[in-house]
Amino acid sequence: MSATLIDGHGVAAAVREEVRRGVVRRCAAGYRPPALRVILVGTDPASEIYVRAKTRAGREVGIDVETSRLPEAVSASELGDAVAALNEDDSVDGVLVQLPLPAQLSPGDVVEALDPRKDVDGFHPVNVGRLIAGESGFRSCTPAAVMTLLAHYGVDTEGAHVVVVGASRIVGRPAAVLLGSEEGEGKATVTVCHKFTKDLARHVRSADIVVAAAGRPGLVTGEMVRPGAVVVDVGMNRVADARAARGYVLKGDCEFESVRERASLITPVPGGVGPVTVAMLLRNTLLAAERSAHPGPTAQAEAAAPVPVEGPDRPAAASGGPP
Ligand code: NAP
Repeated sequence: MSATLIDGHGVAAAVREEVRRGVVRRCAAGYRPPALRVILVGTDPASEIYVRAKTRAGREVGIDVETSRLPEAVSASELGDAVAALNEDDSVDGVLVQLPLPAQLSPGDVVEALDPRKDVDGFHPVNVGRLIAGESGFRSCTPAAVMTLLAHYGVDTEGAHVVVVGASRIVGRPAAVLLGSEEGEGKATVTVCHKFTKDLARHVRSADIVVAAAGRPGLVTGEMVRPGAVVVDVGMNRVADARAARGYVLKGDCEFESVRERASLITPVPGGVGPVTVAMLLRNTLLAAERSAHPGPTAQAEAAAPVPVEGPDRPAAASGGPP
């Protein structure tokens, strides 16, 4: 068997188109475009690439995206002031601080400083708590991308056994919650493996669906995967390769060729989860705008017929007309 490749670019394009239409509807109704502000500290080359990709994708769908650059040596209080200013700015709907941060800064403190209503990455404890409680809140973009990819390819997670490899706060654990949610999206039985897991291969072999998110290139090999399983490879690892123009290649957490021989569906790296993650950020930004002090048509329609969407509960402002 050779697995069918999941086309992350295609799924991302479909999500972006849905967001673009939402932005058009919003603007046609007289509201300003959604506004996303990115804070980029220092000059980490990978972060520069991610921020460029988010900016390009956002602008293509009509979102106003701007980046504030802060020096590598910025202090925690200076960064806190920058976040506070964006929290207070009514013309800004979504704020994200690009991670990783330099060593003098605590990512946890920075994330907690964000207004949860503008936390379009879905990292704030309020949004994580809402996810666990099954309440409406921003879903972390990569786990949401995993769910969207599975849904798009008609993978039925209800009652399936999903093994999530990796237990980070921003990918593995929220993905496990979404997949395992009884009343919400996943309805799967979920096993979470981490670095203390004994006999990772035994667990992975028992999975109908494997979500690999450990940040370890080639950790999941073909012989670990049950024939016919669905494999979502979240890993995005730079592996040195002198033959590559950039001096490295991107590898997933799965040993692609051997896993592909056993799986029925598999995400490539790159071109799988990554592009959909960016699309989810845009979707969250539109939702943040729609639920802001100036709610547009999508939020009004939601109010009339509530549906489970990824957005915070936000009280309408008294002055709520078009800007
Ligand atoms: P992370 O913070 O490093 O978390 C990885 C988790 O896996 C950690 O809890 C780690 O434990 C654990 N782990 C390490 N070795 C393991 C093993 N042998 N078996 C099971 N678990 C193990 O990384 P992350 O932010 O979750 O990201 C995971 C991967 O996804 C990375 O490659 C990242 O680049 C990629 N990623 C991709 C996207 C995308 O859009 N495609 C988005 C986010 C992240 P320790 O920390 O204790 O080692």
